[in-house]
Amino acid sequence: MSFSYDRVYAWVRAFAAAIAENKEYLTELDSAIGDADHGINMNRGMQAVLAKLEGDGQPDAGALLKTVGMTLVSTVGGAGGPLYGTLFLQMGTSAAGKSDLSGDDWAAALAAGVAGVQRRGKAELGDKTMIDALVPAVEAVSSALADGSTLDEALRRSAEAAQEGMTATIPLVARKGRASYLGERSANHQDPGATSSWLLLRTAAETLAAAGS
Ligand code: ADP
Ligand code: MG
Repeated sequence: MSFSYDRVYAWVRAFAAAIAENKEYLTELDSAIGDADHGINMNRGMQAVLAKLEGDGQPDAGALLKTVGMTLVSTVGGAGGPLYGTLFLQMGTSAAGKSDLSGDDWAAALAAGVAGVQRRGKAELGDKTMIDALVPAVEAVSSALADGSTLDEALRRSAEAAQEGMTATIPLVARKGRASYLGERSANHQDPGATSSWLLLRTAAETLAAAGS
């Protein structure tokens, strides 16, 4: 079971499309507990990524992911951009030189990316950040593969875990990022970064699984 460089490229494009489609929604979520720019920030970054990748044909999934990460770091301000930049850069380092990724390669890359976000942002599970969607997604994909699930099934479970993690941020009081300045008033709102991370895993399940063989 593996998927090719082309699928990874398709995932990046699908994530960019999902961010563009949900730009207002993400910004609305960020207006409740932040500064109303998460959708705008992420969309600016992903549109820059699309422009940068145009015509990219090197069949190296690692190099592709690193380009995504570097572009996000250089075009997106705030907390979200550099954190997503780190995620993609670390995924790219993990997948360096590979034109095809196995399920285990994908699980390892995702785990490396999320570990990078945690090193950089110092958020733990339950702090009401993107980590609340990402960490359960990493755990779900690894345990599904360890149980002998197909890659398609592992990706689907990973997206579901991200969605549950995203929804679980609603009652939480934020302990990291801008939302933490609100203290108790940050409760009863869904975290914008956890929401964009759910889009990341949902589009992965949609685009990578489609070609799983
Ligand atoms: P900013 O908060 O600088 O305006 P964005 O609005 O783009 O940046 O992103 C906000 C999101 O970033 C939050 O919803 C949260 O998920 C995520 N975030 C903020 N700080 C951290 C952190 N230290 N670790 C992980 N994620 C974080
Ligand atoms: Mg913001």
